[in-house]
Amino acid sequence: MIRRIERPVIVPVFRPFSASDRRIVHRLEEIPEIVLRYRDGLPGRAAAAVGSRASEVLMPELPTVEIFKRTFDRTAAGRRIAHVRVPSTRVLKKSASSIRSRLAGRRLRGSHRHGKYLFAGLEGDGWVVLHFGMTGDLHHYKGDKDPPGHERLRLSLNDGWNLGYSCPRLLGAVDLAEDVGEFINERSLGPDAFDLDLSHFRKRLSARSGAIKSVLMNQKVLAGLGNVYTDEVLFQAGVHPKAPAGRLDDEQVRGLHRGMHRILHQAIESRADPARMPSSWLLPHREPEASCPRCAATLKRITVGGRQGYCCPSCQNSRQAGGRTRGAKASAS
Ligand SMILES: [Zn+2]
Repeated sequence: MIRRIERPVIVPVFRPFSASDRRIVHRLEEIPEIVLRYRDGLPGRAAAAVGSRASEVLMPELPTVEIFKRTFDRTAAGRRIAHVRVPSTRVLKKSASSIRSRLAGRRLRGSHRHGKYLFAGLEGDGWVVLHFGMTGDLHHYKGDKDPPGHERLRLSLNDGWNLGYSCPRLLGAVDLAEDVGEFINERSLGPDAFDLDLSHFRKRLSARSGAIKSVLMNQKVLAGLGNVYTDEVLFQAGVHPKAPAGRLDDEQVRGLHRGMHRILHQAIESRADPARMPSSWLLPHREPEASCPRCAATLKRITVGGRQGYCCPSCQNSRQAGGRTRGAKASAS
């Protein structure tokens, strides 16, 4: 049955595309009822010019992995795995044969997310662990004619649909775990960003002397934040990325904690799509020479702990950096 489309259907699209994705995207672009919403927030053809921006925004942090979790629970939980295909073994942390024998024929249970890790439960016991690295994605699709590009693991389910894990840049991981808590402990992962209350958050920051941006991105301090959402949390709290974590005052720590929860929740509601995020956020403006959405100053590119990000030189006072930035000495007061 063909249903008439009553209003535009908004389709989120990842970029850069593989050649096969590009063909699909170009066909979708010709259908007036379908609005393609590019995940990097830019209109269609302008993308090529700003490839670096696109790849940066696409990295899966907590909100994106939470969306993958919800997709998994809605589409795969409760289904039986009829067939396991491993098109590439390069992201596997266990042998392909052990993954196949562990998964084939088993029913999937619900999932659990911790930071940027997704744990897909297996009937009986055990978990499949997915980490999405910089470019990982989860696809729910029917048939096997047009699989997603760079697919590394495909679970064909007994309802005729597939769950595909893709990872173009091979920095993700597919693993097996007996126990979620043990897996987290073995990797010394900190608490999930959503599970961290204010007093524990304060305690974890006060023990660190490094730049606040590096501390928030350290998965052993708290799990889930990466480069882009850390910049957003710091921007909205008015804290400079290089400010020493242990020297923040109580108001700043409270602001960061409150902002982190609000931003992560709102990002999930926005489907982690910059085009749906409030224009007052830093996130939709991450590009060289862009203006601060709050004060109109030119945003600054800044490298902290080897990661390049953005901040507002006016809203995020560099004096907080405690003399770590050249020419900005710590004030004595
Ligand atoms: Zn500003």
